[in-house]
Amino acid sequence: MIIAIAALIAVGAIVFILTVRAKDLPQPEPVSPFQHLDERKAAIYENLRDLQFEYRVGKLSDHDYQQTKKDLQRELAGVMAEVDRIKLQLSPNGSAPKPPAPASAIDPLTCPHCGAKFPQSLKFCGECGKAMKVAQA
Ligand SMILES: [Zn+2]
Repeated sequence: MIIAIAALIAVGAIVFILTVRAKDLPQPEPVSPFQHLDERKAAIYENLRDLQFEYRVGKLSDHDYQQTKKDLQRELAGVMAEVDRIKLQLSPNGSAPKPPAPASAIDPLTCPHCGAKFPQSLKFCGECGKAMKVAQA
């Protein structure tokens, strides 16, 4: 009897875990393909900062500073190129994933008629008096 209850509890626990998993974690958080590159970029920037600091306090010779800086900048350029390459791969037609739409078409703070900018969205332009809202495609 105890074994039967224990088995029932075990099965119940497994079913519970599976159910919770399926419900709460339908899809794992997608890891950005740029994340490791971002981390490398941040590390390089930090190295550059450290380098600049050490140079300023006189720990590094001019030559060492220039050499290390060049190396870091080359590494940074490599990371940037990698980011661009991945971006290109991710986008179907080779352009940026989200090309910015023309500002006049989407910006509710800019009058589409006269281009005046306002700190908040208005129904009518305070400059030319025309309707601010434009038909959005
Ligand atoms: Zn206007």
